Amino acid sequence: MIKPRGITIAAHSSGGFMNNKLIVSLRIISLLIFSIAFFQTAEAQSRADRTLLNEAERITEDVFSIAIQTSKGARVYAVRQPSSKMLNAIDQGLADLFSIAQKNNYRKRLNYSDYTIFIARADRTQDGSKNYSPDIAIGAAQYAGSVYDQGGFIYAAGMVLAYNPCAFVFAEHTRDFQRVSDVVRFEGEHLVLYHNDRKLYGKTADHSKGGGHPILK
Ligand SMILES: [Zn+2]
Repeated sequence: MIKPRGITIAAHSSGGFMNNKLIVSLRIISLLIFSIAFFQTAEAQSRADRTLLNEAERITEDVFSIAIQTSKGARVYAVRQPSSKMLNAIDQGLADLFSIAQKNNYRKRLNYSDYTIFIARADRTQDGSKNYSPDIAIGAAQYAGSVYDQGGFIYAAGMVLAYNPCAFVFAEHTRDFQRVSDVVRFEGEHLVLYHNDRKLYGKTADHSKGGGHPILK
């Protein structure tokens, strides 16, 4: 990244009327350089967001037209305006995640702003036992032929979308917000492990070989 301030500092070392003019024009140039650097960063950021958004839309076949933040600063994309209960449940899930991560001496990715969370349309709202269970349908992939396979797809409570930035998706809930906090914490476990304990991450990432949540105790 360009450091435009160096130019201004150099100009300050000499005084005089002419130099004041020079300082002003150098300041303008500095400001221009700074603005260009800022817009380039913003553009790279929005490109990364676009890529992530495309990936989320490809997997869920939903359109995430709402962009919002939780009160603690986690980024949220949603198909519909999320309720405050949803947003608070997300913050609670992340708080639970961060506290269990700290207990395990993990330090990385423990900020709310490290997380981008997608709230998708629920592809079902009841599980096989008729319990309230808003889930998303996703391609079976490694779960094909397993007990989870519903014929080419599986129902999942949540799914990791990306590791940089940390992103995952789960379904919209209208009640049982404790389940939202649990899903957030559980999907977050994979991401925290990826960044802090790659070995344990590798052992626990694929549930088709058994094992579930919580992983961190
Ligand atoms: Zn999992």
